[in-house]
Amino acid sequence: MPAGNNTLHSASAFVEARLIKPDRLDALQKVAARYAVAITPALIDLIDTADPHDPIARQFVPYEYELESLPEENADPIGDEARSPVPGVVHRYPDRVLLKLLNACAVYCRFCFRREMIGPGRGALTGRALTAAIDYIARTPEIWEVILTGGDPLLLPPRRLKDVVTRLAVIDHVKVIRLHTRIPVAAPERVTPALLCALQTDKAMFIVLHANHPRELSSEARAACARVIDAGIPMLSQSVLLRGVNDDAGTLGALMRALVECRIKPYYLHHADLAPGTAHLRTSIMEGQALMRALHGRYSGLCQPHYVLDIPGGHGKSPIGPTYLSADGNEITDFKGARHAFPPRRPD
Ligand code: SF4
Repeated sequence: MPAGNNTLHSASAFVEARLIKPDRLDALQKVAARYAVAITPALIDLIDTADPHDPIARQFVPYEYELESLPEENADPIGDEARSPVPGVVHRYPDRVLLKLLNACAVYCRFCFRREMIGPGRGALTGRALTAAIDYIARTPEIWEVILTGGDPLLLPPRRLKDVVTRLAVIDHVKVIRLHTRIPVAAPERVTPALLCALQTDKAMFIVLHANHPRELSSEARAACARVIDAGIPMLSQSVLLRGVNDDAGTLGALMRALVECRIKPYYLHHADLAPGTAHLRTSIMEGQALMRALHGRYSGLCQPHYVLDIPGGHGKSPIGPTYLSADGNEITDFKGARHAFPPRRPD
């Protein structure tokens, strides 16, 4: 299941690739011993090693601050465990479940909200656990949608993916299968005809791409997404708002435009979760709201994601604004920031 032979999996490999200066090796080996590290050739190619603030490197190259946790940070920041009726399933909302097929990814994001649970060697659901998970879904008729996640489910061999999709598709009340992945940007060569064949089903299938910076939509990534969409699978996106990566309106807008140009509808902009050792990558919610206002002011409606926060403790996602209607409901703010009475006041 590895992402590829040339993927870097250790701090020393990052040094050899000149992504880390040798004098930081000792400190970053401690980080790599605590949290999984990996970056694929497709993403290494996008890094400008001369730029100490490179937004791709910032997402994947380990950093000393990761060993500093704040009291409000949590090993399970969105409360997966509290909402897990059987291993591998998270049932947070009545009509949908997460099915976590494996605990490995092609790359390990430094801000990952599941960083305490994922990494190489953390395994996949066993055959018996998968059967128990699918049995739970089959005997719970309010489940309308199953979200395949992990880790990254597109790391699984096509034969195993096909088995999962086929077993879910025969459950009458499951109408939608959604799959969350970073593979089209992290390892676009893995989007093969065999993989796409494995995802064919009569049920509605959606793929949600995780991408955070417009540079991630390289020509190879765009071609991989086009193969997915041309195979009849619509795509949405999710991005994480990250300090030093996409926390300015120009970058965020360029990301949303790049996604739409690839026929991918921006779906979620996540406020970064309170995962341990990730404070240096988080913004404030106020900053996020200002960025959403800027997106609203400058970019097409197709480029507008929902800005959401996963409430710690497993209470689910909520939209966190900004709001355009005044608290008393009598005034609305337009895309330029001007306020208007609603309904319009009649001239005396
Ligand atoms: S791809 Fe998702 S699950 Fe994997 S490391 Fe990144 S954020 Fe975590």
